Amino acid sequence: MCGLFGVYGSKDAASLTYLGLYALQHRGEESTGIISYDKKRIMQHQGMGLVNDVFDSSAIKRLKGNIALGHVRYSTTGSSSASNIQPFLVKHRGGHIAIAHNGNITNAFFLRCQMEQTGSIFQSTMDSEVIIHMLAKLRNKKTADSLPEVLSQLEGSFSAVMMIDGVLVGARDRLGMRPLCIGKLDGSYILSSETCALDLIRAKYIRDVAPGEIVCIDKNGLSTIKLEKETRSAHCIFEFIYFARPDSDIFTKNVYLTRKRLGAQLAKEAPAKADMVMPFPDSGNYAALGFAEESGLPFETAMIRNHYVGRTFIEPSQYARDFRVRIKLNPIKDVLKGKRVIIVEDSIVRGTTSRSRVKTLREVGAKEVHMRISCPPIISPCYYGIDFPTKKELIASNRTINQIRDFIGLDSLKYISLEGMLEAMPLPRSEFCAACFNLKYPTDIPKGFRKNILEKGK
Ligand code: SF4
Repeated sequence: MCGLFGVYGSKDAASLTYLGLYALQHRGEESTGIISYDKKRIMQHQGMGLVNDVFDSSAIKRLKGNIALGHVRYSTTGSSSASNIQPFLVKHRGGHIAIAHNGNITNAFFLRCQMEQTGSIFQSTMDSEVIIHMLAKLRNKKTADSLPEVLSQLEGSFSAVMMIDGVLVGARDRLGMRPLCIGKLDGSYILSSETCALDLIRAKYIRDVAPGEIVCIDKNGLSTIKLEKETRSAHCIFEFIYFARPDSDIFTKNVYLTRKRLGAQLAKEAPAKADMVMPFPDSGNYAALGFAEESGLPFETAMIRNHYVGRTFIEPSQYARDFRVRIKLNPIKDVLKGKRVIIVEDSIVRGTTSRSRVKTLREVGAKEVHMRISCPPIISPCYYGIDFPTKKELIASNRTINQIRDFIGLDSLKYISLEGMLEAMPLPRSEFCAACFNLKYPTDIPKGFRKNILEKGK
């Protein structure tokens, strides 16, 4: 859960990167940073918090040069601390290497132990730092020469934007698990996790960085190297269901339309007698729209979201019970009173938030509350960069659907089928990872890494 953005060849590289990160804020709210390069010096600005909190115009002005890369972070491997903010930068043998990474390298611990035994000293607990150490050790005269050797040793998922001695590099793992695309703006190249960031700066989408591809951008333009060919892809299906912005195309397909199709499929599989369909905004909005269209029921936004709730508002203790839920979403009593309601949600993780929200609907007089979920039950953790809780905390891994229904306080609860979800996707089903639903992890997961995620012992 991270967002990446890079620019090569623009005098406004840092400003464009700032805007790009702004558009990618949903991919990580914990920390952010930008590194720029003006052929002589590397400049860096970073901090904990949102893009808007960390950068102001003077910080952007100080980030000179026509190359920049930036990152928004939500920690999955490595703790939430200032030493783990990306892009991560090292100066080495008179040169520099900077990296911004999205994903989880599942053999990072093993590689790190190997390097520590030969004297490497790590500054952070991030898996991304392993890539830098490997590059620093192997670096030949030409940057590109050592990249395939390093990246082909990595297991798990990674999309990365790097800057190595003035060359901007984009790379994706062989299965293409996390998104990364290439855009152009006038003469400059852009790398971005999602196309919504290209739209914001009016850059033209060129293509995705292909699974297993390394693109190097320098004064001669863009050149490409392929890691050994994989015969399959394993794009994270959860990017379509929940994570990516609906106005983005990821893996070359639009997210909004996919979510609507999921909602329509859900309506076919699990109809209910009701007076209206509603989402808990914003997460279920588009699946709810698709559900309403397919079922012919009216779509209502009967809970209104307060968009000004930051991550750090002070929760007064006397109001603590359900306060966090109520400050975010407020129900419209006159719409809900005496009504049979179908809520369409994109997922249930722990079930506690849904429970509080459903309780609020009952309090204002909703007569029946049914819930429909546009993904199947999440039964297993993600080892590839989406921060689900431990298996113990995942409600669907410990309770039956009827038990979840009772826990949340619903009249009925149904999930889309695995088959239905795959059917609604805009790409062939064989191109997706859906392991958190069907346990078919597309790579081996080293035992130590599995244990680490299960216990969240980061
Ligand atoms: Fe995505 Fe689930 Fe696969 Fe993780 S396990 S990459 S969340 S589909």
